[in-house]
Amino acid sequence: VLKGTGSGALPPMLEQYVRMRDEVAAQLPHAILLFQVGDFYETFGEDAERASRLLGLVLTHKSSRDFSTPMSGIPLRALDSHVERLLAAGLCVAVADQIEEPGSGLVERKVTQLLTPGTVTEERHLSVDENYLAAVATGDGYALALLDVSTGEFRCAAFHTRAALYDELSRWRAREVLLSPELAGNAALLADFQGRFPVMLSPANFGEEGCCAELVAALGEVPGTLGSSALRRACGAVLGYARVTQQGQLEMVRRVVRFEPGAHMRLPESAVRALEVFTPQSPQGVTLMDVLCQTRTAGGRRRLRAWLRSPLLDELSIRARLDGVEALTRAADLRGGVRSLLYRAHDLERLAARVATRRSGPREVAALARTLELLPEATRLLDGQGGLLGTLCARLGGLPDVVTRIRAALVDDPPLRLGDGGLIRDGFHAGLDELRAEALGHRAWLAELESSERARTGIGNLKVGYTTVFGYFLEVTGPHLGKVPADYRQVATLKDRARFTRPDLREREREIARLDTAAGRLEVEAFTELRDSLAAHAEALSEAAGALSELDVLSALAEIAVDCSWVRPQTTPDAELTLTQARHPVVEQATGGKFVPNDARLDGGRFVLLLTGPNMAGKSTYLRTVAICALLHQIGSFVPADQAELPVYDAIHTRIGASDDLAGGRSTFMVEMSELAAILHGATHRSLVILDEVGRGTSTLDGLAIAQAALEHLHVTRAHTLFATHYFELTRLEAEHPGLINLHVAAEEDAALNGGVGGLTFYHQVVPGAARQSYGVEVARLAGLPAPVTARAARLLTALNTGGDDRTLVRELAALDLSRLTPMGALEVLHRWQREAAEGGGPRAEGWTVQSEPVQP
Ligand code: ADP
Repeated sequence: VLKGTGSGALPPMLEQYVRMRDEVAAQLPHAILLFQVGDFYETFGEDAERASRLLGLVLTHKSSRDFSTPMSGIPLRALDSHVERLLAAGLCVAVADQIEEPGSGLVERKVTQLLTPGTVTEERHLSVDENYLAAVATGDGYALALLDVSTGEFRCAAFHTRAALYDELSRWRAREVLLSPELAGNAALLADFQGRFPVMLSPANFGEEGCCAELVAALGEVPGTLGSSALRRACGAVLGYARVTQQGQLEMVRRVVRFEPGAHMRLPESAVRALEVFTPQSPQGVTLMDVLCQTRTAGGRRRLRAWLRSPLLDELSIRARLDGVEALTRAADLRGGVRSLLYRAHDLERLAARVATRRSGPREVAALARTLELLPEATRLLDGQGGLLGTLCARLGGLPDVVTRIRAALVDDPPLRLGDGGLIRDGFHAGLDELRAEALGHRAWLAELESSERARTGIGNLKVGYTTVFGYFLEVTGPHLGKVPADYRQVATLKDRARFTRPDLREREREIARLDTAAGRLEVEAFTELRDSLAAHAEALSEAAGALSELDVLSALAEIAVDCSWVRPQTTPDAELTLTQARHPVVEQATGGKFVPNDARLDGGRFVLLLTGPNMAGKSTYLRTVAICALLHQIGSFVPADQAELPVYDAIHTRIGASDDLAGGRSTFMVEMSELAAILHGATHRSLVILDEVGRGTSTLDGLAIAQAALEHLHVTRAHTLFATHYFELTRLEAEHPGLINLHVAAEEDAALNGGVGGLTFYHQVVPGAARQSYGVEVARLAGLPAPVTARAARLLTALNTGGDDRTLVRELAALDLSRLTPMGALEVLHRWQREAAEGGGPRAEGWTVQSEPVQP
């Protein structure tokens, strides 16, 4: 533990340090120990080197006669900010405090806190969002356990494949993960895991027997729902680890919910990213969550994130949420009332969890009371509502009256710490009142003392003062020292004055101290009793907290729906999607009222939309608009459109952009292809698939072939597919594939509009038919490429286009799979070529609405 120089015996304090460091390491091998030495938390040896590097601390040495070791420390008051940085850097922290006043010998110390990124519960270390600790185990299949110790939420799920488990894990954004030895010990699996999830990995005990013991200790039994060894091990490992870091306190965990991963829409991490649900693709970008986040409480915000991560599949549940949102959109008073009430609520989920573990401080209990006082008002507002709102109302009203009890015991504005005193209300505890009254008598005497002594001694400027070292004293300045009466005893001499005490003053002082200590003890007792009585209602508190969070989300969704004129979507039983005048909620905000809404229609007969059009025309935006509407529908939200009918999709798959996200070492193309592979394997006829510029990462011919093959595959799958491409050759697929429809984004070339230099006007309007050309040269001109360069490019383009027929022919020939082509099929191809040659050839350009001259340099 301590690498040092010299062979001498360690000084006793360092011996104590090494002992504690070993104890900590046995539980959290990679933790750093902060060891209180007076006004500093010190680290020694390797820890000192790590800490000084991570925190930018000065590295010194702790030396005795023949031993020296690196040392670096942080001041006591800077603990929180440094701990935060250590946690953010992915380290665990143990804090050892001095637990007795320093005397002559070695001070006694104790580890008072074990902090890890996934298990902190102190509000100041937590992000407002979720804070999951996860465990992954294998055995008969794969299992995942997730625990948020700050709220007590504990859930688990089993999976058949590792991919499915990873899909699910990526929804939860765990801050810390425990991997079972089968996984952690396998270098390839470990590397794969770390490539996907840049989180802290902590070792934990996954032995089945120990895990079952943890389950029994926390939940009273090994729940029957944990039907596999992998599930029991994952859950037990999470509990064991949490128990260590919570120093035995796990009362916030009351049950484990086994959820069905299949109960929710599949929303792979790539889709969450592509749709910018939580993180923008450019640093200043706005996310869907930003637009939706009209929630008023931290719990509501967490709940909204959870809904977005796990959209529903069950039509009835979707309808229940939509009914709730609709009721709130219709009744402006109700919505306003609920929202102004939520505004005053504290984080009830976390407060409830702290109550359950009997950890709440006085201020937290006061905040709990303030929040609980809102609940009757909420149930009054919701009175008479049916459906989900009615259920929420019942859950909010199910609490026995604990507020009165808290109010009776606790002052309105209690101090931060329990030991500070003055937190129990007068009149609550007879014994405490007596002690206080008695102390008050003594204090009144003290307050009188100055004037009575001035009168008695004739010393006009005599003062009564107090310091922690001397206690109470009478102070007399130099010129009056002669008048000091005989019963004064001198205790200190300063430059120009002296301090005295008197036996009766000492007596009163001791009395006050005794009374204060006794009162303090009673206050702690009374508070602890109050806190224990609250813990008995932990279950009902957490029910109410959950209901409040849900109410917050529903009213936030209603607020946005009203503000932005969204519409309630109808769920269609068949695979039919109709969106009228749909908007992209984020782009719409950014374009400030200039957004051009578009329609979309997909059903069992036309399920692949092939979208062409110039760059920057709005293809990506159109694709994402449809996907976001589908996502919103399945979290139970209104959608940004004038009219919407949507099916329940089992998944939203996306493959967008060729250059984003370079996972370590793999080439862009490799990333693109593996994502495409996952989509083609995973998509069903109930899925929504969004593909944007697939095949861009490789040469044109390769890319075109792959794009076409992928399209054909999806056409067979019958997944609802939106495919944006600059490969105009693909538009001819419409002829052979009945489910495929060409669309393009209208744009107009208009030289006059741009001062005669040529240019493009984007209409952002999606219209039927295929686009004719990519306008790449035009966009290059708009971007400011030198005129001679764009002129040359335009001439080259014309030349290439005239020679285009043959190339298309050769390409298609190369792409034909002769091993599968039937003689009849071959004849059909030949027939089409012949027909195209007769028509003047080239990729066909049908349905082009804006006719204009080709680009002239
Ligand atoms: P593409 O995918 O065709 O290259 P994008 O969808 O990325 O084009 O759109 C480019 C830009 O055009 C967007 O950033 C947005 O500012 C604007 N835009 C796109 N669609 C619309 C629309 N429907 N209405 C208004 N502006 C739009």
